[in-house]
Amino acid sequence: SLTAGIVGLPNVGKSTLFNAITRAGAEAANYPFATIDPNVGMVEVPDERLTKLTELYNPKKTIPTTFEFTDIAGIVKGASKGEGLGNKFLANIREVDAIVHVVRAFDDENVMRENNRESDFVDPLADIETINLELILADLESVNKRYARVEKIARTAKVKDAVAEFNVLSKIKPVLEDGKSARTLDFDEEEQKVVKSLFLLTTKPVLYVANVSEDEVGDADQLDYVKKIRDFAATENAEVAVISAKIEEEIAELDDEEKAEFLESLGLEESGVDQLTRAAYHLLGLATYFTAGEKEVRAWTFRQGMKAPQTAGIIHTDFEKGFIRAVTMSYDDLIEYGSEKAVKEAGRLREEGKDYVVQDGDIMEFRFNV
Ligand code: GDP
Repeated sequence: SLTAGIVGLPNVGKSTLFNAITRAGAEAANYPFATIDPNVGMVEVPDERLTKLTELYNPKKTIPTTFEFTDIAGIVKGASKGEGLGNKFLANIREVDAIVHVVRAFDDENVMRENNRESDFVDPLADIETINLELILADLESVNKRYARVEKIARTAKVKDAVAEFNVLSKIKPVLEDGKSARTLDFDEEEQKVVKSLFLLTTKPVLYVANVSEDEVGDADQLDYVKKIRDFAATENAEVAVISAKIEEEIAELDDEEKAEFLESLGLEESGVDQLTRAAYHLLGLATYFTAGEKEVRAWTFRQGMKAPQTAGIIHTDFEKGFIRAVTMSYDDLIEYGSEKAVKEAGRLREEGKDYVVQDGDIMEFRFNV
């Protein structure tokens, strides 16, 4: 499954956030086959539709779908120079599908800032730059290597693939040399294929997390730190989530009812972990379909664009191998008509075949041969 890696300079609140994630974590009993890795925090994906479906079906069990965050260890500064823990840092980032970049946006004189510059003031943009620079330098090294290898073939032999790769490398190289991430560029479909094959770090989707003070999380959009982070993220087509890691740690200790009350007192609609999970899910192009019956109502994650047999395979490989068709209704139709029977009577219950592209919110019942 896809995972988002949490990175950030020392003392920005990563461990605090990761603790909150593991403690808020998914109920292990529901996911018996989940891998247990201390660096992975598995959370349930918040989804109001699941609550509605539970009301309608009154099942014995309701199981949300999950999302995994990975805590990325290692040393940031000088990582691109390629030594020990720095190397590990880059290698770990290479393995994740998206980057959750935690940025300090809280003032607290008791918490030292990683003292990498003359000043000791909180400076979100300088912090972002410090990490991004390591990733940019690492990418520049890979790009330069490929460039040297492919340039001659592209220029002399004019091999089609080499030319395509050379063109993409020529587009990326000056941007990296200019100290910018490759994700600031737009790529067309053909270029994207090449980009994928380069396995760069700065083309991974990123979510900047502004970690603000617990006193300011209610109206954080007014904060200068947050504005700066948003402006920067916009230049990279990146998204921003605003949280207070300290508060998340407290929320993780509460039950659902207490949590709702506490959030309301802070003027928040949802917890930072929920907001983060939703944003990361979206960033990775993930969507949710449901299975619903008297026994169980359950949410399943799939990648947007997947066809019915593939999504069936998420439940069990046999469902994919023996796929015949999927009896499907949309969540909106179910809510509008009130029951599966009424949806059917309205002619809105569909029999979908193997070429059907599953939509977010579909309620599926797979028919298959064993
Ligand atoms: P890491 O090095 O990035 O993992 O940072 P930690 O999670 O260990 O946090 C460093 C320090 O900052 C700890 O003392 C935290 O309690 C504190 N801290 C983290 N988040 C917040 C926050 O939202 N507000 C305040 N005031 N302190 C925070």
